[in-house]
Amino acid sequence: MQLIFATHNRHKLQEIQSALNDAFQIVSLKDMGLNEDIPETGNTITENALLKAHYVYNLYHKPCFADDTGLEIEALNGRPGIYSARYAGENCNFDDNMNKVLSEMHNSSNRRACFTTVIALIINDKQYTFEGKVKGEILSAKRGNQGFGYDPIFQPEGYTISFAEMSTTQKNRISHRAIALEKLIAFLKTIKD
Ligand code: IMP
Repeated sequence: MQLIFATHNRHKLQEIQSALNDAFQIVSLKDMGLNEDIPETGNTITENALLKAHYVYNLYHKPCFADDTGLEIEALNGRPGIYSARYAGENCNFDDNMNKVLSEMHNSSNRRACFTTVIALIINDKQYTFEGKVKGEILSAKRGNQGFGYDPIFQPEGYTISFAEMSTTQKNRISHRAIALEKLIAFLKTIKD
């Protein structure tokens, strides 16, 4: 069965293809000839994942899924949340985003935060969502150089190192995206069995 993954990220594509057996062929937006970014105008992570999945489904009428991730920080009332990618402005990079968080958290003793990924799947005209969460804390300075995004300032609960100090393999075993992906894969296997 062919499944469209509403992403332009090749790394995410390989990650899921390697976790699924040959029963599913995962194709990207690029494979479908769609190069534009899908608008993310929802108010929640779930809304944005659903929005992207429906956008693609309406175009192709084929089984598809989309993911959306956000970092929610308690002391910042849940920000950056749905604004995680462009928290420091339109053309910002990962460092700009982390610097903004660190400066906003400068005087905060509450460092609690949570990464959430939602995967929205549309198949056989029905929609499903799968959620993965990792709780942790925002460090007072960046640590490590692996990973991407906010990894250097996020330390998952139960660990003494940041996401950016973990190997890719170690992070991918415990991450929010891995948890959501595991749920998606378990569901897809029930469809195929
Ligand atoms: P996306 O929905 O996967 O594109 O993620 C939105 C933004 O959240 C990214 O641009 C990153 O800044 C951040 N982000 C997503 N996943 C991770 C992660 O695993 N570690 C650190 N930051 C992440």
